[in-house]
Amino acid sequence: MSVATPRSITEKVFQRVGGHYQWSSTHKIFGNDCREEDYYDDDDGTLEMVQIGAERTKNVLILMSDTGGGHRASAEAIRDAFRIEFGDEYQIFVKDVWKEYTGWPLNDMERSYKFMVKHVQLWKVAFHSTSPRWIHSVYLAAIAAYYAKEVEAGLMEYKPDIIISVHPLMQHIPLWVLKWQGLQKKVVFVTVITDLNTCHPTWFHPGVNRCYCPSEAVAKRALLDGIEESQVRVYGLPIRPSFARAVLQKDQLREELEMDLDLPAVLLMGGGEGMGPVKKTAKALAESLFDKENEKPIGQLVIICGRNKALASTLEAFEWKIPVKVRGFEKQMEKWMGACDCIITKAGPGTIAEALIRGLPIILNDYIPGQEKGNVPYVVDNGAGVFTRSPKETAKIVAEWFSTKTEQFHTMSQNALKLAQPEAVFDIVRDIHDLACQRGPMANIPYMLTSSFTTLI
Ligand code: UDP
Repeated sequence: MSVATPRSITEKVFQRVGGHYQWSSTHKIFGNDCREEDYYDDDDGTLEMVQIGAERTKNVLILMSDTGGGHRASAEAIRDAFRIEFGDEYQIFVKDVWKEYTGWPLNDMERSYKFMVKHVQLWKVAFHSTSPRWIHSVYLAAIAAYYAKEVEAGLMEYKPDIIISVHPLMQHIPLWVLKWQGLQKKVVFVTVITDLNTCHPTWFHPGVNRCYCPSEAVAKRALLDGIEESQVRVYGLPIRPSFARAVLQKDQLREELEMDLDLPAVLLMGGGEGMGPVKKTAKALAESLFDKENEKPIGQLVIICGRNKALASTLEAFEWKIPVKVRGFEKQMEKWMGACDCIITKAGPGTIAEALIRGLPIILNDYIPGQEKGNVPYVVDNGAGVFTRSPKETAKIVAEWFSTKTEQFHTMSQNALKLAQPEAVFDIVRDIHDLACQRGPMANIPYMLTSSFTTLI
């Protein structure tokens, strides 16, 4: 059925049924008491009645930033798990609201982060000097006041029923804005921490409904930092469901990815940005995985350079003695990890958690000071890998794993599988769903551009 209706009439209809509406060609519109029909508007303002008996779709806004590759990977993992578990019940937006709506320094975080982690001493100072609560709270409150209207406009755009932060700088500012709007008790706000151990204290905000910690070590830090036990859940780091649910046969994957079918394979990478001693390690591996006596390779190498295009083009220009694949930013990491036998990486939490699910022994060759430092003992003390910064040592270990130390190699793979938490992302979205249900029917969240909040503080 299709009824041509002016916008003003529609507004009145929905006001009458006590509902909540929005004008968009893609978003559904609905009324609270709307049992018989659900509506959406098409391009010419025509209303169509669709879907009988539907409750309204809830909006979930996932706040992330492309500082590294891990925050986006976790955000996408949560989005995909929501879709698998709850279908159309939730409409998910993965957004960097800071970049879209605010100004410096919030809209420039990616560039500043890249610059700082390249100059690690600078990052170390920034990380540790902003750790005391009174310092980061004052700083973030000032930024919140300055950009309140812009952040508010960002939230308005997506009208979230649920906000999920997967970034350490995305608790304080939106929670202030929600408070100023009087929405703190209506919108579910949760934090999903994406560092495995030594995380920055800005992750912890007592105003959240849940703080999902990927490990007991992080949960301990949360409790020490004033988060209540009832707010904390420990399920693991959210990893894309394609890792957890895919049934992957190594042989088939190798065929699909045009790799050698018989030679053992090592995957070399450095997070989303292709950081760390990738080039030197690749060269050392080319030597150690070549049996000079018999003049044949004893292993193959896959190098994933992420967004580091310069690294990829340098490596592509090399002449290799062993089979090597050089790739840029890959969207199907689960396939490359499934096709390889071990991994060399900086201590990025996302890559580590994914490698554990695939049972890959890990050589950690670098870490970003602060948040990644604690990931090293997490892997090494649990017997799932080793740490060395030396490319030569790294290359030697891989050659031994592929030849004389196969038993150690196998044990590490078993230990990796024991640490893996492939179901974490599903546990997290189910718990968020339960929280949302406890709030009751979620329509009518009264988002409005009320005032300039800067005048309130
Ligand atoms: N990643 C990817 N494609 C690439 C390189 C990396 O999808 O080409 C993903 C990787 O699988 C992981 C994330 O980017 O999920 C990197 O996160 P991590 O925490 O390891 O390091 P970060 O890049 O955040 O420093």
